[in-house]
Amino acid sequence: MAGRRRIGVMGGTFDPIHHGHLVAASEVQAQFGLEQVVFVPTGQPWQKSGSEVSAAEDRYLMTVIATASNPRFSVNRVDIDRSGPTYTIDTLNDLRALYPDAELYFITGADAMSAILSWHRVEELFQLAHFIGVTRHGYALDDDHLPDGAVTLVEIPAMAISSSGCRERVAGGLPVWYLVPDGIVQYITKRGLYRPDGLTTPEWG
Ligand code: ATP
Ligand code: MG
Repeated sequence: MAGRRRIGVMGGTFDPIHHGHLVAASEVQAQFGLEQVVFVPTGQPWQKSGSEVSAAEDRYLMTVIATASNPRFSVNRVDIDRSGPTYTIDTLNDLRALYPDAELYFITGADAMSAILSWHRVEELFQLAHFIGVTRHGYALDDDHLPDGAVTLVEIPAMAISSSGCRERVAGGLPVWYLVPDGIVQYITKRGLYRPDGLTTPEWG
């Protein structure tokens, strides 16, 4: 594709990463001819107690495992390695420095988009990247409250999956097979994530 290279940015807590994230990234990559989509797991939220969000390193590794097989997906540690809370403005500034010649496409689900105007330094955000709002089951997607042309809305195949739903299922002893990639099921079990007792199961070691 002619013109500047296009890089997608998919921010998230990814606790755990699931097929909803992966479909959203893949769909936007294809529709916008993105050279790659960079997944950026958020730093550890400082305002929450440690037990509410899994360790950054676990979330980072799960994101690597889930994206490793796609040559157009990669993972970046900028938010994990920066201290303090994650602001999208910092994420985009760091990525702009890494890809100075690229157009950035920030991908966000309908739920996160409705909060966009409350984000830190929103006018600057729109200067740094195109915003792509993707449909999400259970949330209305509209740009009525956003500046004209600031956000492109994209319909993606509906995946009624959330990380919180996956965590609840694991905590309740229900399977998450097919909601998350196989390697993520195995990683969750290996590390004893989301279980009230935090124990790993003996058969997985
Ligand atoms: P949690 O339930 O813990 O909030 P989540 O499933 O919303 O987790 P996040 O890591 O918070 O996942 O989301 C990262 C980004 O991916 C957000 O922009 C979110 O809107 C988007 N997203 C998450 N799940 C889906 C989905 N099933 N379809 C479309 N977009 C999604
Ligand atoms: Mg969320």
